[in-house]
Amino acid sequence: MNQYIYFDSAATTAPYEEAILAASAALRQYGNPSSLHCAGIAARKMIDDSRAKIASAFSCSPDELIFTSSGTEASNMAIRGLAKIRGKRSKTVITTDSEHPSVAEALKDLEKDGFEIIYIPTKGGALDLNMLRDALAKPVAFLTIMQANNETGAVYDIPAVRRLLQQTGNDAPLHVDAVQSFQKISKNRLTAYCDLATLSAHKIGGIKGAGALYIRKEIHIPALLLGGGQEKGLRSGTENVAAIAAFGTAAEKNQKDAGRIPAIADMHDFLAAELSALGVICHIPESHLPNILHISIPGVLSSWALNALSEKGICVSAGSACSSRKKGNRVLEAYGLPKEEIETSLRISFTNSNTIEECRLLVEAIRQAMELKR
Ligand code: PLP
Repeated sequence: MNQYIYFDSAATTAPYEEAILAASAALRQYGNPSSLHCAGIAARKMIDDSRAKIASAFSCSPDELIFTSSGTEASNMAIRGLAKIRGKRSKTVITTDSEHPSVAEALKDLEKDGFEIIYIPTKGGALDLNMLRDALAKPVAFLTIMQANNETGAVYDIPAVRRLLQQTGNDAPLHVDAVQSFQKISKNRLTAYCDLATLSAHKIGGIKGAGALYIRKEIHIPALLLGGGQEKGLRSGTENVAAIAAFGTAAEKNQKDAGRIPAIADMHDFLAAELSALGVICHIPESHLPNILHISIPGVLSSWALNALSEKGICVSAGSACSSRKKGNRVLEAYGLPKEEIETSLRISFTNSNTIEECRLLVEAIRQAMELKR
């Protein structure tokens, strides 16, 4: 049962019923996957099956996926690991000015160890490729660039980043935060362009508590967590079998449902057209995800609009959920929005389980909020 009209799937998606069933089956099959008896073997099989499903959806080999507790842990593992293996060659790291805090804060921490971080601008939702080319002229430890922005939905051109690496002869590994883009873009064969990538279960219809780091076979980074040697020694700690089982089930379901992305894109276009007609400003980057629409409602502060919609049972977000308690919004500033559009901005994000009827209710609620503020 859906108790809300939920337009905040970029914060977390409603778990698929199949994912809940897979998680509860795994909770009942409670063996420790490291145990050698039949209960342990059954739990291990659930993890292996899930890894195979995610590998198939992400176009990589199952050996190239390490399960973690979250996207945040996966990105921290990539960044700290790459800093360790590459830090002797160069202390320069390239990123963007609009990364999720799980990347931005991990990089800030590297500065304490003497790393210099170069922030490539993403004004208007596109990477400044000229600046990236210049930055690649000198030795670089590694790059970490998200594929899709969690607030604006902008899709950054990762194939162009790979081309620039090739053209400049730079051998620095490229880590991509694919948390928002995984299974949201058709024909997205990211493994052709990146060396490491971060995925998260609860953004694709899984449940919270599982993420994964894709690490290309040729890349060898050290572990972040040491202990019992799970996940090929790269991520010690007893696996969260339930969350991992749900992750694989959700990835498989999305992969089988080819009509999902066009249906989501139709909803995006419907909302953008209806809201624009009301005088709402829709910030739509040239290359964007189908499931995120960032808007500014002239004269209506985000927090006020969020509460007015919430009182009607409608969930949207003012900035990303992770940064909603922090002052300012560096991502929207990086996008180039003026202060008044930042203060009145809302993120609407959805899946194909939303309906056009729900979109109509959202538009009507925003119209009423605008009228009250007039
Ligand atoms: N990266 C991006 C782009 C995100 O949107 C998020 C979550 O909002 C994360 C990373 C963190 O993922 P997790 O919630 O699994 O730690």
